Amino acid sequence: MSFVSRLKWFFKERWLYYAVAISLMTIVSLLQTVPPKMIGNTVDRIRSGNLTASQLSSTVLLLLGLSLLLYVLVFIWITTLYGNSVLIEKLLRGRFLAHLTRMTPSFFQRNNTGQLMALATNDILAIGNTAGYGVMTLVNTVVGASVVIITMVSLIDYKLMIAALLPLPLLAVVISKLGKRVRTRFLAAQDAFGTMNNHALESISGIRVIRSYVQEHHDLTAFDSVTTDVLERNREVSSLNALFQPLISIIVGISYTIGIGYGSYLVFHKEITLGQLISFNIYLGMLIWPMISFGEFINVLQRGSASADRLQTAFDEQPDLADPARPASVARPERIEMKGLTFTYPAANQPSLRDVKFQLERGQTLGIVGRTGSGKSTLLKQLLRQYPLEANRLFISGVPIEQIAIDRVKSWIGYVPQEHLLLSKSISDNIALGKPDASEEEIRRAVEMASFTSDIAGMPEGLGTIVGENGVMLSGGQKQRLAIARALLIDSEILMLDDSLSAVDARTESEILHNIRQNRAGKTTLISTHRLSAVSHADWILVLDEGRVIEEGTHEELMFFGGWYKQQWDRQQMEASLEE
Ligand code: ATP
Ligand code: MG
Repeated sequence: MSFVSRLKWFFKERWLYYAVAISLMTIVSLLQTVPPKMIGNTVDRIRSGNLTASQLSSTVLLLLGLSLLLYVLVFIWITTLYGNSVLIEKLLRGRFLAHLTRMTPSFFQRNNTGQLMALATNDILAIGNTAGYGVMTLVNTVVGASVVIITMVSLIDYKLMIAALLPLPLLAVVISKLGKRVRTRFLAAQDAFGTMNNHALESISGIRVIRSYVQEHHDLTAFDSVTTDVLERNREVSSLNALFQPLISIIVGISYTIGIGYGSYLVFHKEITLGQLISFNIYLGMLIWPMISFGEFINVLQRGSASADRLQTAFDEQPDLADPARPASVARPERIEMKGLTFTYPAANQPSLRDVKFQLERGQTLGIVGRTGSGKSTLLKQLLRQYPLEANRLFISGVPIEQIAIDRVKSWIGYVPQEHLLLSKSISDNIALGKPDASEEEIRRAVEMASFTSDIAGMPEGLGTIVGENGVMLSGGQKQRLAIARALLIDSEILMLDDSLSAVDARTESEILHNIRQNRAGKTTLISTHRLSAVSHADWILVLDEGRVIEEGTHEELMFFGGWYKQQWDRQQMEASLEE
């Protein structure tokens, strides 16, 4: 029972609710056996001709009272049981998101967004369904069937009962065979659903690219084949489901035939009365629901446990880097130092950084330049601790970075990534991402430093303007400055700009750099860029090529050296003067 063991924590926490629901369901089942007996008795009295008016009316009143009571009891157990079902969905979704936030980029490289969304929606729904509806069907089967069978035996006749229930074992065998197949087909269906999700997500977020390359038709056709696959897989699941009900009808039909045939024989031989035979057949009818329930239970359980397994696989993934067992305490980042760091991405087959060395004192600025793909972003990412790295290669205040708590390191850093990530919220919410309680004044100051003020003045709602999904309504340069304002707001010890000024003009760039220098005096800054003017003031500049430092020094030293940096600088200066 993988389902139960996977969700033990939940059943432990909510056992009282389950106990209440199950007890009420049992009481309801017991009470439901009363009316058939009363009907049988009344029929026997009619036949023997001694039914009085008062007896009849009290029977009717009792039946009425009973149904009212049942109504209330059923209401209570349904709300209790289904309360559990929605609660487990909520808890699992919370846990799942919390798990995702702990995962590193490699995890998201392996699991696409569509599959993760499928887990968070359909799979968790299936689990909730099993924890509510599944439990109900199980209790119905066990309690319903045993109550009816015990009543049959004690009130009527055990021989008739056994004869009528002979076909049941057959049912059990067939259903358990079907159940196994439901599981495999359901897994395939969920998988297809995840793929479809991912396709839909990519089509929507990439709609502009798709349109501009006139690929709408192609994309629709591709999506059509994905949805067809989902359709087919689900059809396969429902064709199995469809087998359950007719099967149960057949079995019940056989039971009825035996019940009536053999029952009449027993009445004829005066072993039971006609009233008993009628009651018996009503009881037999009452067995249909537990039997259907059994089929449903197997079905729902198979889906739930398949989904629980899928979810567990995601939960089992551990982040590929862990906090140190005993984190070193570093009050404030002083010197940042790399001592021959070589780094290879988990999915790559050659290093993206090779033997990189540098030292950066607190308050200094480091410039990182080099051709595209030379490893600039990779170098900055080392400080963000997204990937495991070699021990004793990167030090902060003389302590190897892997010995400092990951969150501690992150709390020092304001990072403007090369690709912007904006939320579809207002500009001020986007800026205040790292400091949700920032005052309006602080936000304005950050905006000012990022030279973003006049842009905001021109927007319909100023700081309250909603930027649309991933900032669709902002220009490239505006997105960059928004991201810079976001990093500046938290006034971090270390600021990292990854090619963050590429989309603004040279004057704005120098304005922003000037503001940063003034406001961040005494704090450390790392800037990677293609435009060398952005790092000409830096205390130290690294020139990377294929992950290796090929030149380094101050601007003057590199110009004097006359290598790649000088050539690049001269070319860019010439281009700038031509533009003017
Ligand atoms: P650009 O100037 O274009 O931003 P860059 O200098 O920042 O380039 P990086 O992004 O650091 O270059 O990439 C360095 C190398 O690492 C490239 O060859 C790239 O293909 C590789 N690389 C980057 N990210 C990954 C990743 N997640 N998995 C595998 N390889 C990667
Ligand atoms: Mg880069």
